Amino acid sequence: MKGTVHYEKRGNVALLSIDNPPVNPLSSGVRQGLYDGVTAALEDDSIEAIVLTGMNRAFIAGADISEFGGAATAGVSLGEALDKMEGSTKPIIAAINGTAFGGGLEVALCCDYRIAAPTAPVGLPEVKLGLLPGAGGTQRLPRLIGAEAAVKAIISGDPILAPDAFSMGIVDRIAQGDIVEDGLAFAAEIIASGGQTRKVRDLEDKTAADRGNTALFEQFAANLNKTHRGQFAPAQILKCIEAAVNADSFDAGMQVEQECFQACMRHPQREALIHIFFAERAANKIPDLPKDVPLLEINRGSVIGAGTMGGGIAMCFANAGIAVRIHDNDPDNLARGIKVIEGNYARTVSKGRLSQEEMDRRMALIIPTENFDDLGDADVVIEAVYENLDLKKQIFERLDKVMKAGALLATNTSALDVDAIAAATSRPESVCGMHFFSPANVMRLLEVVRGEASSPLVLGTAMALGKRLGKVSVMAGNCPGFIGNRMLAGYTRQAALMILEGASPAQVDKVIYDFGLAMGPFAMNDMVGLDLGWRARKMAGGTNEVTARIPDELCELGRYGQKNGKGYYRYEEGDRTPLPDPEADEVIKRVAEELGFERRDFSDEEILKRCMYPLVNIGAKLLEEGHALRAGDIDTVYVNGYGFPTYVGGPMWFADAQGLDKVLADIERFHAETGDDVWKPAALLKQLVAEGRTFASLDQ
Ligand code: NAD
Repeated sequence: MKGTVHYEKRGNVALLSIDNPPVNPLSSGVRQGLYDGVTAALEDDSIEAIVLTGMNRAFIAGADISEFGGAATAGVSLGEALDKMEGSTKPIIAAINGTAFGGGLEVALCCDYRIAAPTAPVGLPEVKLGLLPGAGGTQRLPRLIGAEAAVKAIISGDPILAPDAFSMGIVDRIAQGDIVEDGLAFAAEIIASGGQTRKVRDLEDKTAADRGNTALFEQFAANLNKTHRGQFAPAQILKCIEAAVNADSFDAGMQVEQECFQACMRHPQREALIHIFFAERAANKIPDLPKDVPLLEINRGSVIGAGTMGGGIAMCFANAGIAVRIHDNDPDNLARGIKVIEGNYARTVSKGRLSQEEMDRRMALIIPTENFDDLGDADVVIEAVYENLDLKKQIFERLDKVMKAGALLATNTSALDVDAIAAATSRPESVCGMHFFSPANVMRLLEVVRGEASSPLVLGTAMALGKRLGKVSVMAGNCPGFIGNRMLAGYTRQAALMILEGASPAQVDKVIYDFGLAMGPFAMNDMVGLDLGWRARKMAGGTNEVTARIPDELCELGRYGQKNGKGYYRYEEGDRTPLPDPEADEVIKRVAEELGFERRDFSDEEILKRCMYPLVNIGAKLLEEGHALRAGDIDTVYVNGYGFPTYVGGPMWFADAQGLDKVLADIERFHAETGDDVWKPAALLKQLVAEGRTFASLDQ
């Protein structure tokens, strides 16, 4: 059995210390140890109270990941251990020394009293894996803090720091000194005042007022539809909390929790979320990069270009406490960039999510400079100037001259050839892509693009730097658009073709929205601005691409998107809701006719396939070519960089769930119907179908 709980007598108190390094998960030995420890304390007449604490870095960090997936596990169940604790006639004090997440907090909630170290975070993050706290968390937490706070805490799954946990009522005290000594002192006080137990299951004062208030739960459900649309577990959590408030007894509420927990266990969203959980961790491992590859020490960064991306990237550095210089050759843009950064931080301060002091500290780390040569003393430089290969080559030629030896030289290009950029330097081994996503200070994804010559040190450093900046880093090969944008091109093109073939932008957007993305491709185009592509195409001397005709004609009519109230849709002043607009619809119909498209009706199912399957087919090609290392990497890119619903597990996981044979049959049919290259089935896809395998099986 894994892990143990040490039993020690401290006078009339039994001190139970959980020992399962490094973070004390609830493995079989810990569950058994809790059960045995409480039993022993109850049997010993000289013991009057029990203090439960964690050794190592945590109180209990949660379930044992190696037991994930519902596999039958040995020994005492968590439920049995908790029943033993809750049945204890001697008060149990949880001395929360460090992290108490998931089952860890549920253990603490089964104790009579809780004292926490000031730095200890607590929380119930099960929702992030498509689950709910299934060991009484949904029943006990509302009894301690009320329904509304419990809904917020359990549905967000976010960590709550000890001082907040104290003000919410999750813990009774914050330790002033050593947590174990303070826990023992707390126990002594309780013994001195009569040694009363206080079972959370019996508390009613926080829930009584909401009993029978159906409107309250209707309001919660309505909010959930906005914040957690399409997600199964949050709705189940709400049901459980409603039972905690309204069920006839604690046990009846526990019954509801068990049923909802089992429903979550059976739901495909759980598997998808667990897939992403592991895929994000696996993405860090680069097979041919030695584990002990030396890394550059990063103490100072430089960013070139103070536009949308450069500003966001500089913020990432400052947020991580790394000093960063930011340079722009246009002084107005530099000043504007700094203003935007300041405005972003100020908004966070006004929302109460950042202190003014912290904002000042971060602003002080961002040093604007008009002098290119100032960039030279950084350990890493990230270029984020206009997307133009010649310009980027010039910049790298100059960087080669000014950057100190050994520095990491990265480009934030969205799609250009990293090798061509590296070739402008005398040190291509120091160059790689670091492709951030907009807004760079918010989006979690970082594609690290591997150039032909990029050294292991540079790649390892870029991946590690991504982590330090709070990103999920994924390694991508150097091909046009890398992983994410190369796939996206297939998706947007099919959407553009479908509106020529007879679907409406609103129908396409609704299918994609209902699938779980925040918005469909046309609403997205309107948000970004149709004029960007239009101007770029004009500068490049025009295009013959049929899918450009509609946006170009819309722009000719002054329909640039949200920015001027009309694009594919029209917008009311000060409102971002897309509304149908006959003028745009007329343009679409006319262009389609001029181009000779036969218009027809589309089913929602066909729209979804036409949008999603290019992602799958191009994803398969990326894997085949080695430009993506794992199917899980592609899924990680899509959920972290493109708003793909995490609970669907990413495009490759989605394809597996449809059945690859069915996906291939549709792709072959689209290929036969259109002859379009995007539908030429990837050899890997054909091979997997022939072998009866899935994309996920490639990663095992
Ligand atoms: P932007 O137009 O907002 O900013 C570019 C900045 O670079 C401008 O301030 C400009 O003055 C400056 N600049 C131009 N030439 C320069 C030079 N010679 N020296 C110094 N500064 C110079 O552009 P952006 O959207 O931030 O994009 C920058 C890069 O990031 C591009 O390669 C783009 O493809 C890539 N990218 C953009 C996004 C996005 O969504 N905007 C996402 C990922 C990657």
